[in-house]
Amino acid sequence: MASNPGKSRWAETEEDVAYEAKLKKQKEEKKRLKAEKAQRLQAAEEEEKSRRREAAERAKPSTGVEDRPHKKRRISPETDDPEKVVGRKRLKTSLSYWAPCRSERNYTKLNDIEEGTYGLVSRAKDNGTSRIVALKRLKTDSKDRNGFPVTAMREIKILRACDHRNVVKLFETVVAASDTAFPTVSLVLEFVEHDLRSVLEDMTETFVPSEIKRLMLQLTSGVAYIHDHYILHRDLKTSNILLNNRGVLKIADFGMARYTSDPPPDNLTSLVITLCIGCIFAELLERKALFRGSAEADQISKIFELVGLPSEDDWPGFRRLPNAKSLKLPRQPGPVEDRIRPRFTDLTKAGCSLMRDLLSLNPDNRPTAKEMLQHPYFGEVPKPKAEALFPTFPSKANQERRPRKEPHAPARGDRAVKLGEIDVSHLLATVTPKLKGLDFG
Ligand code: ADP
Repeated sequence: MASNPGKSRWAETEEDVAYEAKLKKQKEEKKRLKAEKAQRLQAAEEEEKSRRREAAERAKPSTGVEDRPHKKRRISPETDDPEKVVGRKRLKTSLSYWAPCRSERNYTKLNDIEEGTYGLVSRAKDNGTSRIVALKRLKTDSKDRNGFPVTAMREIKILRACDHRNVVKLFETVVAASDTAFPTVSLVLEFVEHDLRSVLEDMTETFVPSEIKRLMLQLTSGVAYIHDHYILHRDLKTSNILLNNRGVLKIADFGMARYTSDPPPDNLTSLVITLCIGCIFAELLERKALFRGSAEADQISKIFELVGLPSEDDWPGFRRLPNAKSLKLPRQPGPVEDRIRPRFTDLTKAGCSLMRDLLSLNPDNRPTAKEMLQHPYFGEVPKPKAEALFPTFPSKANQERRPRKEPHAPARGDRAVKLGEIDVSHLLATVTPKLKGLDFG
């Protein structure tokens, strides 16, 4: 059969084309929002830095020359020797730890998976071993005078340090020549067939309670592991949680992650926001994001609508938080249990109590990942489903497509239908063994 590499291997109907266009539009919108978020984050980091600089200046003993305008701050060091730069330390990294990197030519690219804000992810094959991997090519800005992005450094360093079955594995980093000052750096990651966001979007029925329990158990184990190693992910969401065809969940995308300490460092950027595990729990149950606010004010009112309002009783010190005083709160809508139980009807009493704790506004009332693992929800029936019994899904990353419900598709066996009108992808997919697991019954 003649193949056209640029085209899908399934026949494309008008509906398919419209659907693809819709997906493309959604993807572009997602990319735009992510870029905006990255920009906001950078601006916040800059602001934070300048705030700290100013605070440090204020803390200096007076020299009696305060009225004199400040000298413009020099950004680049006066000397090339970082040891001589006051207040900076040379990054202690042994070369043998980072180098040598193999060339990207050791891999053959098979197909693109997704272009995110920080990298282009594709499926590739190791030429030597034939192992299938995911290649995440990091975007670096050659004009950035700060050099190789610190977020990329963190992502590599943190993934190298992680070794847990619920955290995506980094096999190696590879380089490719580029026409900029830096070579292009790619992460070679274990290939995982799905991300949870795509699975939730495509499935026609929700995960059953025992499957949700297994997913939550794996997610919590992964988070407990990284927290135990003083790593904060800072970008947990269903599109960054991967699921393979053997039912194993892997936390991915450590592009926003960083090391923390106990007590936490005081230079954490304030505007970094991430979903709490409770939001992901709810998204698994409902197949859509829990709080879908159109803007910040709408978002916060949606949060308060479900979990109630912060008060001095259950969140002492809340009023001292920045901007808390200007927040005009409506009347307390009653106990949170009265809203959680009717909303999550598939959850047992223990499940609802875990959800309530996870969604607590006061961070001190939220269980840690380690505490969560001891919660009665995980011990009661139904037990978490064995990973091997998980349903499998056609993988988009693998270029497989799930048949969509086609309202106008001709019924099977309808003799009036001409062969050319039959949706071939639908016919092929119904005989794909992978789809067997779709029956959740
Ligand atoms: P970015 O940091 O640019 O957002 P991500 O690491 O989040 O990039 O990856 C973007 C998407 O690529 C994910 O949502 C997922 O669909 C896919 N992806 C990421 N890592 C893998 C992997 N190891 N295997 C398969 N697909 C992956």
